[in-house]
Amino acid sequence: MRIGQGFDVHRFQEGRPLLLGGVRVPYHLGLAGHSDADVLLHALSDALLGAVGEGDIGRHFPDTDPAYKDADSSKLLQEVYEIVQKKGFTLGNADLTVICQKPKLAPYINEMNTSIANLLNCDSSCINVKATTTEKLGFVGREEGIAAQAAVLLLTK
Ligand code: MG
Repeated sequence: MRIGQGFDVHRFQEGRPLLLGGVRVPYHLGLAGHSDADVLLHALSDALLGAVGEGDIGRHFPDTDPAYKDADSSKLLQEVYEIVQKKGFTLGNADLTVICQKPKLAPYINEMNTSIANLLNCDSSCINVKATTTEKLGFVGREEGIAAQAAVLLLTK
């Protein structure tokens, strides 16, 4: 067994779609980033890479590389999971938290759960997406951006 954890933050930016877990969430702001800035998929990708000792997504997909401009984080996650599988592991479960003051994410949690399970070709019971606010404290509470945390357990195939 291997364990991994990931953390990511992106700031809000006007004029971009808000993507969380591969799901487009209706909101008047999106997240800034070199890629599509899907903060939840980035935290999950980092957790998977961490679990197999493969560094982080910045190492595999540098934000200085024009190839990853506006990159689809769903594709990056699938590339990361290929690395995991080539190393002989499969996902046991992933526990994920989006930390966000606004918008309210409750209506989209199930869709994110299904989206991530589809991307990793696993049963949706292996994925658990949660959302929390910070009770209006800190940069999340000031609605400056969104943070995400991920924990994964990998099993040998
Ligand atoms: Mg990121």
